[in-house]
Amino acid sequence: MLPGQKHPVQHDVTMPAIELQKVSVRYDQTVALDSVTLRLNRGDRVAVVGPNGAGKSTLFHVIAGVVRPQEGQVRIYGSGPGGHICVGYVPQRKVIDWDFPVTVTDVVMMGRVGKMGFLRWPSRHDRDVVRAALDEVGMSAFANRQIGELSGGQQQRVFLARVLAQEAELLLMDEPLTGLDMPSQEVILSLIDRIQRNGVTVMVASHDLNQASEQFPLILLLNRSVIAFGPP
Ligand code: ADP
Repeated sequence: MLPGQKHPVQHDVTMPAIELQKVSVRYDQTVALDSVTLRLNRGDRVAVVGPNGAGKSTLFHVIAGVVRPQEGQVRIYGSGPGGHICVGYVPQRKVIDWDFPVTVTDVVMMGRVGKMGFLRWPSRHDRDVVRAALDEVGMSAFANRQIGELSGGQQQRVFLARVLAQEAELLLMDEPLTGLDMPSQEVILSLIDRIQRNGVTVMVASHDLNQASEQFPLILLLNRSVIAFGPP
């Protein structure tokens, strides 16, 4: 949340940020999530740790409302998922088409779509919010560059700026540190820290238990079902 911005009204921050009750997801024969029950409070910072195929991305898709579980209940700040502009989702870098011709400013402005609605031109306020978000992540100098031209760490910073511009209350990042050098990882971790200190709930997927244990106060060990959840 940037200074002076208002909370969106589509959710209730007094409710738990995430409540999953016995959520199961299957893709044909594959069980991706098996009876996952989980409750996170506003401002929690959680690493979701598990091997490849453990269901981490599926869990994020369920929380973001893009995958509907076959069984179970999902509540995000008290209401059903989907159509929630308070969820900021940063997918794995490898699933993004980096050749798509958009500028850094375009990417961050996409975060405003939920606020401005489709087919409306950005207002001066939208543009100010985007500029402030880019400033906050130290990427103002790259505003007119094509997103595909940036380094991995810079791309992640731009996606965090998009989450700031969106005024998200819940940040989901899928393997944000994979493939980044140490200095870039530290920049991303300190930005995540800053976002969380503003009351945003943060979930980060990782396959590196050691790193997650050092950086996150709460660990969710996932292997289709919840193996453990708590402090490292
Ligand atoms: P992770 O993010 O931990 O690697 P995923 O959630 O991507 O795990 O995948 C969990 C399981 O579900 C894997 O076996 C994967 O192959 C399968 N899966 C994920 N998405 C799909 C899909 N769209 N269609 C079919 N199977 C899928």
